[in-house]
Amino acid sequence: MPLEIIRNDITKMDTDAIVNAANSTLLGGGGVDGAIHRAAGAKLLEECKTLGGCKTGEAKITLAYNLPCKYVIHTVGPRWAGGGRNEKALLESCYKNSLALAKKYNCESVAFPLISSGVYGYPKDLALKTAVDVISGFLLKNDMTVYIVIFDKDSLIISEKLFSDIKEYIDDCYAESHFDGRTRNILFEDSCMAYSASVSLPKITKLSELDSRLAEIDESFSQMLLRKIDEKGMTDSECYKKANIDRKLFSKIRGDINYKPSKPTVLAFAVALELDLRETDEMLRKAGFALSHSNKFDIIIEYFISRGVYDIILINEALFTFDQSLLGA
Ligand code: ADP
Repeated sequence: MPLEIIRNDITKMDTDAIVNAANSTLLGGGGVDGAIHRAAGAKLLEECKTLGGCKTGEAKITLAYNLPCKYVIHTVGPRWAGGGRNEKALLESCYKNSLALAKKYNCESVAFPLISSGVYGYPKDLALKTAVDVISGFLLKNDMTVYIVIFDKDSLIISEKLFSDIKEYIDDCYAESHFDGRTRNILFEDSCMAYSASVSLPKITKLSELDSRLAEIDESFSQMLLRKIDEKGMTDSECYKKANIDRKLFSKIRGDINYKPSKPTVLAFAVALELDLRETDEMLRKAGFALSHSNKFDIIIEYFISRGVYDIILINEALFTFDQSLLGA
């Protein structure tokens, strides 16, 4: 997946580069900076001493020594002072300059901490939004896998309001699904099971009859995907980039009419194509899946699609907050 938000300790990432939220001396500090220097060993500090510091918003690169990655990109985030001191533009520069350096050094993967969101006090949700906006813009024109690494377990990323709306929606759906069969939304029932349990299938007596039934087999997932891309007037790359799916996976799907995608992949395309719930359900069925009210992942996706919200990054932030797997490859 080109952009992924994960929980981890950034010093454990074996991406080509990791980014350090440093201070302007580049001589080490607390937080993620301290952790990176401890894990890299004393040679990192030796190299940092030769760099002559770094201004806020700029970035410098070093080797990574004992860390599992190849490079450390040191950038200096702004201190939060209420938002009126150009903090946003400076934070954007941190991401832009770090990504430009990663590109210059041919990095295929890079991991960022949430710059400025610790000691420098930048509100975490705003810090994440800026990170996601800049990285997404970069990925529209560049091939790279970028991770945003969230460290603290309890950090709530999406806004409190969105969190409580989704939570309420999940609670309602669970209640509906678990306690009152009559009000369940039939669209999301596993109708195949319902069908086989309640209706006896017509007998197929001859093999030739089976042959002709199979000849009428429905459009496959891959065919539907390509048709929808055309109908929406999108290019392939607009679609897979918006879906947060990497190019190689998309080529596989394009080249194999019977490709069997994972459920998050189907849903990522449904979101990228801005399908409504009925079309989303149709696309899922083609891949052998259905949305269900028995799991949070499905309910969260349904929450967004039913409201016409197709921002995959926002959806992934919500999935992440509720400890669900993310959309995309
Ligand atoms: P800043 O001074 O830019 O705010 P901090 O290091 O204080 O930098 O915090 C930046 C972010 O990095 C915070 O969200 C913090 O929780 C996170 N962080 C701290 N240690 C690690 C780590 N080992 N891996 C990833 N993120 C970390």
